[in-house]
Amino acid sequence: MFSNKQRKFPENFFPSEADDRLYMQRCLRLAAGGEGLTYPNPMVGSVIVHAGRIIGEGWHHRAGQPHAEPNAIRSVKDQSLLKESTLYVSLEPCAHHGKTPPCADLILEKQIPRVVVGCADPFPAVSGQGIARLREGGTEVTVGVEEEACLLLNRRFFTVHLAQRPHITLKWAQTLDAFIDRSRDDDSEPPLLLSDALTATLCHRLRACSQLIAVGRRTQELDHPQLNIRHWPAPHGQQPAKAVISHRLTDQLPEWLHSLYEKGIQTLLVEGGSRLLQSFIDQDLWDEIQVETAPFKLKSGHPAPLLPTPADGHLSQKTVTADGHLMTTLIRRPEKFARV
Ligand SMILES: [Zn+2]
Repeated sequence: MFSNKQRKFPENFFPSEADDRLYMQRCLRLAAGGEGLTYPNPMVGSVIVHAGRIIGEGWHHRAGQPHAEPNAIRSVKDQSLLKESTLYVSLEPCAHHGKTPPCADLILEKQIPRVVVGCADPFPAVSGQGIARLREGGTEVTVGVEEEACLLLNRRFFTVHLAQRPHITLKWAQTLDAFIDRSRDDDSEPPLLLSDALTATLCHRLRACSQLIAVGRRTQELDHPQLNIRHWPAPHGQQPAKAVISHRLTDQLPEWLHSLYEKGIQTLLVEGGSRLLQSFIDQDLWDEIQVETAPFKLKSGHPAPLLPTPADGHLSQKTVTADGHLMTTLIRRPEKFARV
């Protein structure tokens, strides 16, 4: 096998750490082009830099198609420059034969002297193998640039493989005084409308990243929610599946979640009602919570679930839309993987 051991790097070959971070941020932007489309694979982006200039870019578009690295390598017009370039990639290059040949081998074959990896692969069986293979071949490898952002981008994918259950997002909208709806006993009245145009779009984008959407039986009977993607492109034209959860099942959520994992469901979105959402929160079964607070009060009605207080290991974000709707997002930080 080709080896570039004892390679001498030209002077000024290594970009500054700040430049490394910038190029990795570009990888993340490219990777996000595959949002909702790469199942069951993660989103990955890659750029190739020669003498301070990006000469190639690529990302993983969908499963079965080439990974980010071959796409970036192929986009380089003058292939002879690869021998003097740095390849940045947001996730560790693969070393195993899947539907495509291993990217680590391609990088070695192209004699790319330096690789910068955002984060190691979380798959226990393969984690670190791509990095090890590159280093054995004499490639200079830097790991952990913009690591948290790289972990966050694929948090859904990582959770699935580490927790062996789908990544769980809880979502609801409430009034300023924390009601999710008027008090209603039947479906003769429509549910209270809380979203504005932007937050409705964001909701459909979230659905586009979800394979299964769950609601409680009472929500189903009272609201008849469509739970489909209408204001965002449906990934590969496919709508998410829908599950109606009975009160009895809330006692068996861990078992149910594991059965979903075994069926290959990576992402679960729970959209209500209050009691079902609270069951997930009380059993600490959530990875992400998105709450929209509309800028008006109701004074009485159906109370919203209680948002957990942000703790260590949580990432809390708040933004306000032009119409004054507050979006609060609580994300459980993906576990940091051992540095390779
Ligand atoms: Zn690969």
